[in-house]
Amino acid sequence: MEKKEWNFWADEEDEIDKKKPSIITIREVTDMLKQHLNKDDRRPVVPLGHGDPSTFFRAPAAVEDAIVDAIRSANFNCYPPAHGLPSARRAIAEYVSEDLPYNLSPDDVYLTVGCTQAIEIIMDALALSTRSPGANVLLPKPGFPYHEARAACSNLQVRHYDLLPEQGWEIDLDAVEGLSDENTLAMFIINPGNPCGSVFTSQHLEKVGLMARRLGFIVVADEAHEHFTFGSNPFVSMGVYGSIVPVVTINSISKRWSVPGWRLGWLLTNDPNSILQKSGLTKKIIGCLNVSTDPPTPIQGAISDILGKTKKEEYSKVVEIVREAADTCYNRIKEIPFLHCPHKPQGSIFMLVKLNVSLLDDINDDLEFCVKLANEESVILLPAGLALGMKNWVRIIFAVEPSLLEDGLIRLKAFCHRHAKNK
Ligand SMILES: *Cc1c(COP(=O)(O)O)cnc(C)c1O
Repeated sequence: MEKKEWNFWADEEDEIDKKKPSIITIREVTDMLKQHLNKDDRRPVVPLGHGDPSTFFRAPAAVEDAIVDAIRSANFNCYPPAHGLPSARRAIAEYVSEDLPYNLSPDDVYLTVGCTQAIEIIMDALALSTRSPGANVLLPKPGFPYHEARAACSNLQVRHYDLLPEQGWEIDLDAVEGLSDENTLAMFIINPGNPCGSVFTSQHLEKVGLMARRLGFIVVADEAHEHFTFGSNPFVSMGVYGSIVPVVTINSISKRWSVPGWRLGWLLTNDPNSILQKSGLTKKIIGCLNVSTDPPTPIQGAISDILGKTKKEEYSKVVEIVREAADTCYNRIKEIPFLHCPHKPQGSIFMLVKLNVSLLDDINDDLEFCVKLANEESVILLPAGLALGMKNWVRIIFAVEPSLLEDGLIRLKAFCHRHAKNK
């Protein structure tokens, strides 16, 4: 029988592929680094590359009880409704409305499989809401690679706006104006900042809202590290400015409750003027949710207890530990002459550090730095050139066990001194 041509697109670089952003995830990069670890090194590996809070923090007992009770009740063994259990949507609407000048209704809340699926849904919904081949979204640089990867999957073009390290990683607002055009659908912001550890002031967020409204696109705010703040700026949700510009916020229980494996997140429409509704984007969001999978029903059943029964002290205990870890990390990095952290982290669990490779022998860039560091010192950092487009920067996670963090920073210092030029 004669073979028919396969009906796939050829996997060659065509013009469309060139326009697409590269798809690389943080996990891929850290997995690659792990292959360079020296198996004969008896010291523990210090994992400062990929953030999983559950390796260090354990959720409060009341949170674990909530999910056990939900399962034992046998009330949540069914398929959930496509947008989430009504009781779960109500509980989340109440929880988030505490931070807003207006109340969200349960209909503004859509449950997702972690914040990750909320990113997928909003990218797909945006792509479906336009016929323009030049449809694009604005993403921060540095930012979260998954935003970029999912934009590519949805065939959206990506344009990067800069965050300014010497201005506390605020958005270069003047530059955004020049980047956007009539095909710009949304500007994504990440606050508190991953990977920079920044926390935007309310004035800055208001400027973002006013600019987006003037230029005609919506704001999507990834607030996965919501309330992980320990500097002078308190966390303010972008949703506060929902009456200036429609805001879609995305979030999850992964970080605040240290349970990323439970996979419960949400997407909120902060839209008191019903612009998303009228423009049809809400309908597209609902359409995308209808054809995707849902977070497991028992976790949805537990969410009102998870949100309602966690005591304030439980969070502040964790935030206090993270604050101390951020201090330690920042102070130790300051002692290493080849490294520079332009902005002390104020939130999230990350900071971004610039390498002065010109002072280092036999190390040419951030990737080589991280590969050798993994091999010689069993310390994993994220090479930000490869993973985040920030050449010769590295991202460090400081939310790890304090003695392990100290140990990792001592090894980092020894590594830098060993590779210094003109020793
Ligand atoms: C961790 C993280 C996510 C993913 O959250 P999940 O709930 O684990 O899917 C999304 N965005 C940012 C900025 C994050 O740090």
